Amino acid sequence: MRSLILGFASASLLLAAGVAQEGVRWWSHIQVLADDKMEGRNTGSDGHRRAAQFVAGEFEHAGLKPAGTSGYFQPVKFDVRTIDEPASNLALERDGKATPLELGEEASFNLRADLAARVDAQAVFVGHGLVIPESNLDELAGLDLKGKIAVYINGGPSSIPSALKAHYSSVGERWKAFQKAGVIGMAAIANPKSMDIPWDRAKLARLNPAMSLADKKLVDTEGMQFLITVNPANAEKIFAASGHTFGEMLRLADADQPLPHFPLNIGFRANVKLNHSQTESPNVVAVRPGSDPRLKSQYVVFSAHLDHLGIGQPINGDRIYNGAMDDASGVASLLEIATLMKERNLRLKRSVIFVAVTGEEKGDLGSTYFASNPTVPKKSLVADINMDMYLPLFPLKYLEVQGLAESTLGNDIRAACDKAGVQVQADKEPDRNLFIRSDQYSFVKQGTPALAFKFGYLTGSPEETLTKSWLQERYHAPSDDLNQPVDKTAAAQFNRILLDVGERVANADDRPHWNENSFFRRFADGE
Ligand SMILES: [Zn+2]
Repeated sequence: MRSLILGFASASLLLAAGVAQEGVRWWSHIQVLADDKMEGRNTGSDGHRRAAQFVAGEFEHAGLKPAGTSGYFQPVKFDVRTIDEPASNLALERDGKATPLELGEEASFNLRADLAARVDAQAVFVGHGLVIPESNLDELAGLDLKGKIAVYINGGPSSIPSALKAHYSSVGERWKAFQKAGVIGMAAIANPKSMDIPWDRAKLARLNPAMSLADKKLVDTEGMQFLITVNPANAEKIFAASGHTFGEMLRLADADQPLPHFPLNIGFRANVKLNHSQTESPNVVAVRPGSDPRLKSQYVVFSAHLDHLGIGQPINGDRIYNGAMDDASGVASLLEIATLMKERNLRLKRSVIFVAVTGEEKGDLGSTYFASNPTVPKKSLVADINMDMYLPLFPLKYLEVQGLAESTLGNDIRAACDKAGVQVQADKEPDRNLFIRSDQYSFVKQGTPALAFKFGYLTGSPEETLTKSWLQERYHAPSDDLNQPVDKTAAAQFNRILLDVGERVANADDRPHWNENSFFRRFADGE
């Protein structure tokens, strides 16, 4: 009895030592990827290319085969835009009188779209600007929007399921509905309650290069002439001629009441000078071939984004946006999961693809390209398991999963978490639209069931405070670097759970499928 207990104790100690070592190894990849030498891995930069070479080398060490179009690489072409801000301006027009809006302070042009050089158009407030047929919601109904600019507040009714709302809140889906109504551009106002990044920091990114895929078929903002983000602290003046106030709109939104829709009786006048160029940047793609003669032609995808924001506006004297958590952490997990498969000599029936995508920070562009032009037949991709900034800042007790209720992958992650003694949580903050805010969504739109993750916590807990202050202080800031406290052992536990999910999916008799009642099922035609 005694020796048995001792035996058990030493085995679990060994296990604990193993996971701690794995955590140190996981961090060692981040030390390379988030080093100042990688210069923040901006899409198209030399720093990103060096990081891509490193990842390809590590894929090779882990025994993975090249699965790009050129060895481990799948080059992707991008159109690049920067703004010449001194030669650009924005004004509010009321009764023929123009009042300038200070760029950066009051509003910023968003170069995600190829903006028109000159725009002069009336503005209409469209509430949250949502058109969701499944929820019988059409916030554009009955409005005259021809040639107008639609102004909206991010968010939407809490009665609408979060994944559905997230989908229709995406720029591409919004623009489809707006364009159909005759809208020529849009102005988004963030609800201060759900702003991840304080305006003072968010405004710095407006001077960074923006990109879209050079392949026009894959661009979701075609025809958009005007796109701005408005500082909510200065939004009141946009409502000044409408008979309503922004404060009133926010109160309604925060009380989950429907928002009214009305002409703002003001116009936006914009002159925009853009500089255009082109660049190329690779996705890094590798495969661990499956062992089953029939199932090996199906692929489970693990994805994470290698790009970050590069070198930008300095904060506290630091210009390098290292992106240690965003998303060197996810790429390090890719490398760890591949390495664990090799170390454990796993025989998996299906093949597993590991892809470190580029262009995520520019709008999920590398994953859009890969999911639309996969290097294996599209229908053979059975699942995407995406890891982006999952924030292992404390021990792993709760794992928040996006896409949990959408497909049979929800059962796999539940089973893996159960086994690891970790509790699964659904999306707690639907207004942050996390389901569409990373690369898993590119796969979802092509019909592939997907999951994404965050370290979870209970509301009001110290872990919530840690996560929220991380977002306030380090998210998309140069301080997301190697000098920050991270729970490496918890990250290793996360990696093991995802390895377990991958194993379950790769070895299951049936490929994963969308749940009967999932909205996203529609993208999987012919399934
Ligand atoms: Zn990011």
